[in-house]
Amino acid sequence: MANRLTPLVAGNWKMNGLRADLGEIAAIRDAVAAGRAARAEILVCPPATLLAEAAQLCAGTPVAIGGQDCHPEAYGAHTGDISAEMLKDAGASYVIVGHSERRIDHGESDARVAAKAAAALRAGLKVILCVGETEAERAAGHAEARVAAQLEKSLPKERWAGRLAIAYEPVWAIGTGVTAMPRDVVAMHGFLRQRLAALLREGETVRLLYGGSVKPGNAAELLRSPDINGALVGGASLKAAEFLAIAAAIGGQ
Ligand code: PEP
Repeated sequence: MANRLTPLVAGNWKMNGLRADLGEIAAIRDAVAAGRAARAEILVCPPATLLAEAAQLCAGTPVAIGGQDCHPEAYGAHTGDISAEMLKDAGASYVIVGHSERRIDHGESDARVAAKAAAALRAGLKVILCVGETEAERAAGHAEARVAAQLEKSLPKERWAGRLAIAYEPVWAIGTGVTAMPRDVVAMHGFLRQRLAALLREGETVRLLYGGSVKPGNAAELLRSPDINGALVGGASLKAAEFLAIAAAIGGQ
């Protein structure tokens, strides 16, 4: 079942991008509409300031737009935060939750990540839930235990019916240019697939993405296993040409 899932190639722009950069999203849209990555689903998660315009640019095309985080509440006194309902209202269909930069920079616990994922599902969004071990945890031989614990505690209790993807992102591989060894990625994805099957009735339908310094030159090799159903791409998603090359390597004809 897992290898029949449509791959998802998702770009996470993080805190990058001004209105002048919207042309990159338009270029991605045009190439995807022309069939550049016909076997994959393509998603771009720009900063919140660009979300509504990006969604307008991609309306009616195969390119989905997503947020990078959401608050667990629908509205209220939470200065600076954005709810899942607001993301949806701005035209998003996806949101990333539990990215390691949020877990580290904002001290987000697994329970809070689960609440955010539940909020996103409640609002009708699809969710990319991130998990991943630190370098020290891997060196100590605790990578699987860490990732399994994060997965179990960050999963929302609500039913997700095909609206959940998990991104395995080893913290030490994010934005560092250091990629995990393909055999380690395959092993971790196989492990996650087993855990998901044990935890969820629909575990087989959950796409498992890899993230961590994915580039055009390593995408095909990194994503060659049936348990790897796409990529979450940071730095290399900022320029259409690079992102499209990754998308084509994963979802080209
Ligand atoms: C990410 O931000 O999720 C990510 C994987 O970043 P990068 O591709 O830059 O390592």
